Amino acid sequence: MASVVELSARYANFLVHPLAPGVGVCQICRGPARPGYSTCRRCHEAGDVLGVGVADVVVPISLALKNGQYANELWRYKNTHGPQRAHFLMGLAAVMWRFLAAHEPCIAAHCAVPGFDTVTTVPSTSGRAEHPLRAMAATVVGATRDRYRELLSATPAAAALGRTTSADRYVSTAVWGKNVLLIDDTWTTGNHAQSAAAALRAAGAHRVAVVVLGRHLNPAYGDTTEHIDRAQLRRFSWEVCPLRNGAHS
Ligand SMILES: [Zn+2]
Ligand SMILES: [Zn+2]
Repeated sequence: MASVVELSARYANFLVHPLAPGVGVCQICRGPARPGYSTCRRCHEAGDVLGVGVADVVVPISLALKNGQYANELWRYKNTHGPQRAHFLMGLAAVMWRFLAAHEPCIAAHCAVPGFDTVTTVPSTSGRAEHPLRAMAATVVGATRDRYRELLSATPAAAALGRTTSADRYVSTAVWGKNVLLIDDTWTTGNHAQSAAAALRAAGAHRVAVVVLGRHLNPAYGDTTEHIDRAQLRRFSWEVCPLRNGAHS
C-alpha cells in the first residue's frame, strides 16, 4: 500500500500556502480583508454573532482556488462515486494526515493546551447518507481515527438559517473540558465551521481548533486576484508552519 508521503506528494505541485495575517489578510481565515481591517467581513460577523463561541484558531492547510485542481478534488471526493471517489478521498486523507503529523503540535501550542483529546468533523449539509469527510477522519487518517467522535448534528432550525452563522445550527454531545480538533473540508464563508465551533463550546469544550483542507477563494473577485497572486509567489512545502514563522526542521 502507498504511504502517506507517496500519496500526498503530488499535492505539493498545486497546494498554496495561505498568506500570513497582516495588511489585507484576515487574521482568522486568511482570506482577503479590506485595508484597515484585521478580519474579513464574514469573520467579523461571526465574531459579532457568536462572541466567545468562535474557534480559538482556524488553520487552512491550503488555498483552494475556484476551478483549480485542489478545489476540484475537494468537490470530487464528495460528488463522484466508486474508484474515482476513493482515489480523491485517499489523496486528501494523506494531505490531512501529513499536515497534522507535522503541525498539530504547533496548533496545540498556539491554543496553550498539551494536545487535542477529541477530533470531530463539521456535519455534511447535503443530507447524503455517506459522509466522506467523516470517513476520512474516523477511519482513514491515522493521526485522527483513534480520537474521533461523532459529536455534532444539525438542528431542526439549521435548514432555515441559509448562509448565516448561528449558534443554533448544530448541537453537540457534551464534551466537558475537552480540547477539540474540528475538521472541515472547505472553508468558503466559515459559517458552518464557526457555527459548529460554537456548538462544541456550548457543549463544554475548552479549546476548539478548526483545521480545513481548503480555504476556497474565487480568483474572479476583484481584490482576490491580487491576494492569490501574492500567495502563489511562495512554493508549497509540508514543513512550512501555518502558525510559526518559517519552517521547522
Ligand atoms: Zn476571515
Ligand atoms: Zn508547525
